[in-house]
Amino acid sequence: MRGECICGEIAFELIGELPKLYQCHCSICRKQGGSASNTGLIVAKEIFRWLNGEEKITSYVKPTGFRSDFCSLCGSVVPNPFRDKPYVWVPAGSLDDTQPLEIAVHICVDSKASWDNQIPAELTQYETMPTLTELIDLLHSNVGR
Ligand SMILES: [Zn+2]
Ligand SMILES: [Zn+2]
Repeated sequence: MRGECICGEIAFELIGELPKLYQCHCSICRKQGGSASNTGLIVAKEIFRWLNGEEKITSYVKPTGFRSDFCSLCGSVVPNPFRDKPYVWVPAGSLDDTQPLEIAVHICVDSKASWDNQIPAELTQYETMPTLTELIDLLHSNVGR
């Protein structure tokens, strides 16, 4: 599946079986996504490949370590490789969505906005942030490896 930023200068491709999505409602993800939450995938770096425009990426790093990568031309949030782990964070909204994907878990639901009433009760929810290992295991439960 392909993905790109709004202006199309930055494009990437995910090749192979895709894990499930998570939706994070923390204050940082709300600001980054500009809405109630941020929906993302954490994919193994072997299935991720830049197609073009990697040099157009600007990185913002918060003192806490949170990092946001975005297109320096159009401001779209773009994938962000984990520094110390063999994974890449991919914003779900940047994907062309040519194959069905599914949200598996909602996280940081205790921090949700007062107007956020879109969290389905039947899905797994974490009040705060699970550990990265826990989250990755949960999201990859459908991927054969
Ligand atoms: Zn762009
Ligand atoms: Zn978050």
